[in-house]
Amino acid sequence: MVTTKASGQPAGFSPSTKARNTWKKSGQGIQEKAHEEQEILASRFAQQESSSRRLQWMVVLSCAAALFLLFVSLAVVFHDLSTVEAAFRQAKYHVAHDTLTGLASRHSLMVQLDFAIAQAACTVGQPLSVCICDIDQFKSINDTHGHAAGDEILASFGKLVRGGIRNGDIAGRLGGDEFRIVLPNTGGDRAGPLMERLREHWERLEYHSPDGRLFSVTASFGVVQHTGERSAKALLHTADKALYCAKGEGRNRIYLVA
Ligand code: GH3
Ligand code: MG
Repeated sequence: MVTTKASGQPAGFSPSTKARNTWKKSGQGIQEKAHEEQEILASRFAQQESSSRRLQWMVVLSCAAALFLLFVSLAVVFHDLSTVEAAFRQAKYHVAHDTLTGLASRHSLMVQLDFAIAQAACTVGQPLSVCICDIDQFKSINDTHGHAAGDEILASFGKLVRGGIRNGDIAGRLGGDEFRIVLPNTGGDRAGPLMERLREHWERLEYHSPDGRLFSVTASFGVVQHTGERSAKALLHTADKALYCAKGEGRNRIYLVA
């Protein structure tokens, strides 16, 4: 409303009660709206905060799951590796050893014999002896007491040989009832008595046959001393001939070729 002075000129601006009420109402409306907007903002903020907390938890859980999977995979890999390594070690053992007697296999013994000959050749005057042992009448032992008893006798001979040689000596089973012993740094003068001790020990051992009878077993030995110019093949051939002589002379004996 515009008030006028007596002269007719406007005196100033004074809002009417109605207008004042309208302004008041619109001021309250603005405040309420601002309040509502604040509440909406606060609830949106709270929602964002809770979803970001959820995201953090998901990241933490994913990391934990990834770590768990990594540990499980590593454990599986290490377990597999150790299984493969054990199988490899076992296969290596079976290639190098005769399983029945625990002595060297034919192949391993030949490799070691070649090495021993090469080593002896490097040192002037270093002797080397090779022995071939064969169990006497082993076929008839199998026939009389059974194959299992025969296997037990072969294993027992292996044990006797293992216990009767020194560290550095090499003993192997060629197959059947035939064995070879390589004695580095040993001349025939020492190899003969060593084999004689084995032979005596062997004939004294007693076995029980499946029907309860006691029996003993003998073996024959061919012993040869290596001389510089002999190859492994020639050395073994001579040892074979010595064994043949021991068998021919009645078995259960040593035949030495110096
Ligand atoms: P000799 O006194 O002339 O040596 O007579 P021998 O009967 O021992 O004759 P030979 O050495 O030829 O016989 C070997 C026997 O060994 C023949 C075979 O049946 C047996 N044999 C071979 N391998 C095995 C084995 O792994 N276990 C058993 N129990 N017997 C075997
Ligand atoms: Mg035999």
